[in-house]
Amino acid sequence: MASPRAEVLVHLDHIEANVALLAERAGPAATMAVVKADGYGHGAVPVARAALRGGASWLGTVSLAEALALRDAGIDAPILCWLDPVGTDYRPAVAEGIDVAVSSVEQLRAVSGARVHLKIDTGLTRGGCPPGLWPELVRAAAASDSEVYAVWSHLACADDPGHPSIDAQARRFAEAYEVALAAGLRPRRHLANSAATLTRPDLCFDMVRVGIAMYGLNPVPGGEKLAPAMTFRSSVVSVKDIAAGESVSYGHLWTAERDTRLALVPVGYADGVPRLLTGRMSVLVNDVLCPVRGRICMDQFVVECDARPGDEVVLFGPGTRGEPTATDWAEAIGTIDYEIVTGMNRPRVTRTYL
Ligand code: PLP
Repeated sequence: MASPRAEVLVHLDHIEANVALLAERAGPAATMAVVKADGYGHGAVPVARAALRGGASWLGTVSLAEALALRDAGIDAPILCWLDPVGTDYRPAVAEGIDVAVSSVEQLRAVSGARVHLKIDTGLTRGGCPPGLWPELVRAAAASDSEVYAVWSHLACADDPGHPSIDAQARRFAEAYEVALAAGLRPRRHLANSAATLTRPDLCFDMVRVGIAMYGLNPVPGGEKLAPAMTFRSSVVSVKDIAAGESVSYGHLWTAERDTRLALVPVGYADGVPRLLTGRMSVLVNDVLCPVRGRICMDQFVVECDARPGDEVVLFGPGTRGEPTATDWAEAIGTIDYEIVTGMNRPRVTRTYL
C-alpha cells in the first residue's frame, strides 16, 4: 500500500469513550454531541454515530444543512440547529423533525411549525434574545404553533472556572426560565458546553452540549486528560545529506551547523500545517521526535532526522507515542486547538476512520 501523503486518522473509539465519560458526568442530564463544522473536522456522520454509541442522545449543528446531512445519512436522533441566515426555508426542518433555535419574534414566525429552543443572551453578547425582549419572545412562542422544547443559552468564559461571568450568566438564565414558566411554558433547560460539563455539575440542567471534549481536547487549562481523537500523519518522500553551512528552504531561515541528514515530508500549509509553526515544530519519525528545519511551505517541509523514504511521520496525535498534540500546536502559535482540528477538513487531506 502507498505511504500516505496527508492523512487524518479519526479514532472513533476515543470519541465513544470521551462521550461516555461526559454523559456520565452530565447525568441525569441528556448529552448533546455537537457535530457542527463536519464534526470539528473529524467527519460529522461517523462522529455522530460514535457519539450516539457512547451515550449521547442529541446532536447539535450550526446550520439546517448540516442537520439535514445527518438525516440523509440515516441518523434519526433528535437534532438542534442554531444559526442560519435570514430567509432560510425551514420546511425541511419540520418535515425531518429537526429542532431550531429561535432568538427573536421574527425568527419564530420564520420557523412556523418547527419545534423550537428559545435562546436567551445571558451575557455572551453574541447570538440570543436580549433580556429586554425576552418576555415578548416567550409570550409570542407560547401563543404560536411551535412547540417550545427548551430554553437555552451559551457561556462566555466556562473554560476559566471561577470567572465571575459564569455565575452572572447562570443567574440571568434562572430569571429567563422563570419568565418562561410564568408564561405557561414548561421548557427544558440547557446551558453547559464541554468546560461547564466538566467543572459545573450544577449547570448541567436537562441537557449539556459537548463539543471539544468529546474530540478528546479538554478546554479547561490543566483539566483531566481525555483521549484526543485525531492523528495527522504523512510519510517521508526523500532523504538527503547536506554539509555544515548549507541553508534550508525558502528564506534560508535555518543553516546546518554540522553535516546533517534531512527528510522531505509532502505536507504544508495547504494541508493545515500552520506556516506560523515554522521554527517551532517537531514531528515523530520512527518514534523519535525530530525538529522541522526551515520554512514550512505550501506543500512540504523538511525534517532533521535519520529516516528512509516511506517512513511514517506523525505530525500530531493523542500524544501517547510522544508526538505533539493539537493542543501543543495551538499553544505554539497562540490559538486554540478547536482551530487546529477544524482546519484539517481539506480536500487534499484523506480521512481514515479507525
Ligand atoms: N453550544 C454551542 C451553541 C456552541 O456554539 C458550541 C461550540 O462552540 C458548543 C455548545 C460546544 O462547545 P465546546 O466545544 O466548547 O464544548
